[in-house]
Amino acid sequence: MKILRLILGDQLNHKHSWYDQPESDVIYFMAEMRQETDYVMHHIQKVVAFFESMQNFAKYLREREHNVIYFGINDDNNEQDLAKNLSQLIKNNQIEKFEYQLPDEYRLDEQLKAFCKDIDIPSEVYDTEHFLTSRNDLENFYKGKKQFTMEYFYRDMRKKYDILMLNAKDPEGGKWNFDKSNRDKWKGKPEIPHERGFRKDVSDTLKEIEEAGIKTFGNINTKSFNWPTSREDALAVLNYFCKNLLVHFGDYQDAMDPEEAYLYHSRLSFAMNSKMLHPREVIHSVIDYWRDHQDKIDISQVEGFVRQILGWREYMRGIYWMKMPGYAEKNSLDNHNPLPDFYWTAETKMNCLHHAIKQSLDHAYAHHIQRLMITGNYALLTQTDPKEVDAWYLGIYIDAIEWVEITNTRGMSQYADGGLVATKPYVSSGSYIHKMSNYCGDCTYSVTKKDGENACPFNSLYWNFLDDKREYFKGNQRMKLMMSILDKKDRNQLESLKNRAYDIINHPEKY
Ligand code: FAD
Ligand code: SF4
Repeated sequence: MKILRLILGDQLNHKHSWYDQPESDVIYFMAEMRQETDYVMHHIQKVVAFFESMQNFAKYLREREHNVIYFGINDDNNEQDLAKNLSQLIKNNQIEKFEYQLPDEYRLDEQLKAFCKDIDIPSEVYDTEHFLTSRNDLENFYKGKKQFTMEYFYRDMRKKYDILMLNAKDPEGGKWNFDKSNRDKWKGKPEIPHERGFRKDVSDTLKEIEEAGIKTFGNINTKSFNWPTSREDALAVLNYFCKNLLVHFGDYQDAMDPEEAYLYHSRLSFAMNSKMLHPREVIHSVIDYWRDHQDKIDISQVEGFVRQILGWREYMRGIYWMKMPGYAEKNSLDNHNPLPDFYWTAETKMNCLHHAIKQSLDHAYAHHIQRLMITGNYALLTQTDPKEVDAWYLGIYIDAIEWVEITNTRGMSQYADGGLVATKPYVSSGSYIHKMSNYCGDCTYSVTKKDGENACPFNSLYWNFLDDKREYFKGNQRMKLMMSILDKKDRNQLESLKNRAYDIINHPEKY
């Protein structure tokens, strides 16, 4: 039976059972398509990274004698639409069965289900063999519960996979969570190792993208491309992380610095989200390295890292499949302001935003706290429409695929899901940013000044947000303390803070 098997751009799992042996009657199909480059405007590095990784994956399969049909973005027979391309191939190659792996995005899942209904040959869908949970495991885990606290799911995963466990029920190190020790500001020391670049030349791929006329944004250095685009590259990033960065990962996980874009973060999200690396191998490599170097590396660094992957990453995927498609429409705080233009240019006098956005435009990367407490915090405080916030996050980051982008953005960062993922909104005044970063010293604004001309904009925005959303958060126990401080504020003082906040919201170009 002649079989056509589809491999999507984020399904580059070298270890998938499909590839155990070459089969002469199986054709694998991969395609660079406008349907994928145009559903949102992407950062140029993201498009380059996906195209290069897909090309390398096709090469890998061909070297192992699999039959691969690959459509480049400018190929004549590429119809730029998944269903049209598949129909064409089925017809021209006398295909008798169509097979695909479960997509991770709702829109592709729907498209492929509809396609299979339309064709008159049988079809079969396979698991990507990538995640540690199935699409519905999280939903089953929380069945009958109102609150979906990530921590309980994480503990269950630790037990289920026997990760960092002393025995069947006790965690290694005596604690499940070392988050409290992961809160240091980085003050220029310890020095951060800097040899983790690949410096690849990607000018051919860039030329193809330009020739196709794909609209992108952001910056790129074509002679020195820095993202992993093959399994070898991805493994090198993982090794580099274990040897050089794990030692301080937890300590500086929440720290921010204008010059150090990556600090001790792993930069493994693209390799994992494109499936070049399996989360299990990442977790085991890190734990194995730690076991051999326990005299130098504390368990808190390792647990902090494992929690992100075994906990948050799987949890967000579960939330996505539990709540889509409705999740993409959620706007529980009824926010409708436009995203300020400076999100696309970094041209703002607010130093934290300038650096976090500039770095994102330059590297298609910002670490978690920059995404959450700088760009996300500002978007929420200015009551920005979550649709616009989502489009920005989905476009700008190298690792942005909807299942993990939307849950983090609408859920964790914008509270648009009404507190499903985050029990209270991640908002702060300037003082948190000052505590964790090195941005405020060089800023036009004074972080300690609450009101008046050069006062830090986050300060007035913060109190204005709490006041505007007072009714909404009335019953939220975790907001009680801040609401009681708000209640004690002098009326005139609050009025003045609100006037300034609304000037910032309505005239972002001035700030
Ligand atoms: P590290 O800090 O080294 O962490 C290790 C790994 O843990 C990451 O590679 C990632 O796979 C996983 N991880 C960490 N935090 C999370 C999280 N909250 N959810 C899921 N996985 C996590 N992550 C994406 O992969 N794609 C996105 O589109 C995305 N959008 C985000 C949007 C917002 C508003 C926020 C607040 C976070 C977002 N994240 C997203 C989560 C997180 O910021 C990134 O995974 C991380 O910054 C990637 O860099 P790193 O590989 O150096 O991560
Ligand atoms: Fe950001 Fe305010 Fe600090 Fe400036 S003073 S860097 S605007 S937090």
